[in-house]
Amino acid sequence: MTFACLCGALFLASHAFAGQEVDFNAIHFGNRDAQLVVEASVTMPRIRRLQPAAGPAFEGDAGNPLIGFATIDGKASRLHWQLDREASRVDGKSLALVYRDPAFRLTLSWEWQARGEHGPLEHTIRIENRGGREVWIPLQDSFTFRWKTAAQALQQLWIDKGAGEAPPVGTHLVDVGDGYHWFGESSAFAHPRKGEPREIIPYFLVRSKSETGDGWYLGVEFSGRIAMTLKRRGDMLEGSVGLNPEAGPFRTRLAAGGEFVAPTVFLGTTHGSIDEAGNALKRWIREAINDPRVLRDQTYPWTTNNSWGSAMAISDAQARRMIDDAATLGLEMFHLDAGWFRAVGDWHPDAKKFPHGLAPLADHTHARGLKFGLWVDWVQAGISKEKGALDVADPAIRDWLTTDPPPGWKPEEFKGLTIDIGVPAAKAWVAKEVNRLVREYKLDMLEHDGYVVAQGCDRADHEHATCDPKRVKKYSDDGFIWMDGPNSTDVSYHAARAYYDIHDGLRRDHPDLLLEVCNDGGRMVDFGSAAHADYFSIVDSYDPVSNRQAFYDASHVLPPAMLETYVKEWPAKRIENFRYMLRSGMMGWFTLMLDTTTWSKQQHGIARAELDFYKTTLRPLIREADLYHVGARADGKGWDGIEYFDAKRGRGVLYAFRGAETGAKSHTFPLHGLDAQRRYRLSFRDRSSADITRSGHEWTQSGATVELPIAESSELVLIEAL
Ligand SMILES: [Zn+2]
Repeated sequence: MTFACLCGALFLASHAFAGQEVDFNAIHFGNRDAQLVVEASVTMPRIRRLQPAAGPAFEGDAGNPLIGFATIDGKASRLHWQLDREASRVDGKSLALVYRDPAFRLTLSWEWQARGEHGPLEHTIRIENRGGREVWIPLQDSFTFRWKTAAQALQQLWIDKGAGEAPPVGTHLVDVGDGYHWFGESSAFAHPRKGEPREIIPYFLVRSKSETGDGWYLGVEFSGRIAMTLKRRGDMLEGSVGLNPEAGPFRTRLAAGGEFVAPTVFLGTTHGSIDEAGNALKRWIREAINDPRVLRDQTYPWTTNNSWGSAMAISDAQARRMIDDAATLGLEMFHLDAGWFRAVGDWHPDAKKFPHGLAPLADHTHARGLKFGLWVDWVQAGISKEKGALDVADPAIRDWLTTDPPPGWKPEEFKGLTIDIGVPAAKAWVAKEVNRLVREYKLDMLEHDGYVVAQGCDRADHEHATCDPKRVKKYSDDGFIWMDGPNSTDVSYHAARAYYDIHDGLRRDHPDLLLEVCNDGGRMVDFGSAAHADYFSIVDSYDPVSNRQAFYDASHVLPPAMLETYVKEWPAKRIENFRYMLRSGMMGWFTLMLDTTTWSKQQHGIARAELDFYKTTLRPLIREADLYHVGARADGKGWDGIEYFDAKRGRGVLYAFRGAETGAKSHTFPLHGLDAQRRYRLSFRDRSSADITRSGHEWTQSGATVELPIAESSELVLIEAL
């Protein structure tokens, strides 16, 4: 309580805050795009203002509350947070306000970080138990807001995950009127629930509907169970972001010396169109979040063939046929999918299918000039008795399972029982096992599938909170045993952190390795996995329209090079349809998932030429250029398109697609990003039109007209400054 009476100019002058005098009523922190004015009151912090580079500020109307109680030995008591000015600090890159509760010996650090001169600011809250006893704490929101908005007409943007089938809407842009109430959820599961909203990529944007598009956005860098809310009452916007409090009540354990870290959120401001907001965010993700290794690698994203085109029937002989053919096509990676292993949980090659093991196959792949990638679902346990296998009957491993298997349980072909990697021994097993896989099988890429972050767990002796077993819903679906209970959020909290540790360890030990997040196809697309892996499978259906829909959605908020769509066998009667199929997967990370040895000579020739064009011309734009959604979201019937434009290099491309049902043989797409003063030549890759040269001003006025006489065909229009 002494701090309260010490407030005043004298105190501030004599107690410098990281070498400078600071007014604790108005601490300024931020970067060129977003400035915060923070009031560090004695008992809680408060954001007084969020000031964008342009446009009106958002005025904070409430404090940012800290958890109000904690529990020791089953007895809950109020916390009395007190600002520790000595321990708090601010500089150009970070701000940390430290609050302490002396009775519980808890320390809470309320932190902001500016990783770039531009882009959003990141916010993290850490709560540390410096006492000698175990403490239980309730949910600390990562971020809450209640601020006044100057603009009257507002809209909200959010994006669904492509999980499973591409969602019907995917990209939502909705008016935020008085009384508005929105709730968004993200986890690593994204179960389809009939008639209910889909899971979101944990992000939303609120912007003015006026020309200026002033607004702000929030995103979460976490793959556990997350909830986001937004409400409007008059000119007040309020909401919260963080771990999902449902089903709850949430509680988590702080061992003596232990720490709880609320999922990191990022908060940024925008000015301009939705695509301009997205492009700025994606630049920041590339520079601040992505592994610098992929920025240096000019061949990222790697063109890939995935063996799932042969499904579980893959074998050494078939893999070699696919690899040799992939090499003639100019593909850069062969990705061995499920079907290669002895049994679920027993991640050694099936001796019948791969009698020489995987290392010679990796050598063969490398000798053909390709990288070698591998599918593993490393959290799944089975019934194999082989040495090193995750066997559910082994008492030590049984202890890691999220639940006991029913009597007589057997795994499916590639689905077993999930272990809880939040258990330190389970995490250590996985870390060692994935290291062995990478080393012994000479991997350039490791993909994980399945659900690495457990949905629920009924064990009483794990790190996470336990709950009344009667309140845990246990059910079977799609070959998995699922659990869902009041402790699910805490289970996911521990497992997601363990998952990041495992991936970070792999990156440390194998700096050239790439990591793919599949997680049952597009269910773990979030900013936490973006920070701890290199690319995502964004949808689990692989036809041209699903691929374009999922790409349209996710490319609003994630770097397109990270967005992988699998191109599967699709009935292409004409060569134009074949190109349409390939190009529908060529806007981001391109992976074929078919047996190319079945292609005709003509299809081979076309595919080789398209891949060459992807590598030389499209890929540099996918890596570096801004992206504009210049058409409607694909519906397979009408026209749709995506434009890339790199203003620095004066180059871009328009992907144009004609659907199956439109009678219109031509369509005009708007063009964005061009300099009005410069002249640009548009050239049409399939020669559907002769080259045309106009000024940037003229192109912006006229748009680019593409003529495609055939249904389900495509064109790539190259834009070059002269
Ligand atoms: Zn558990």
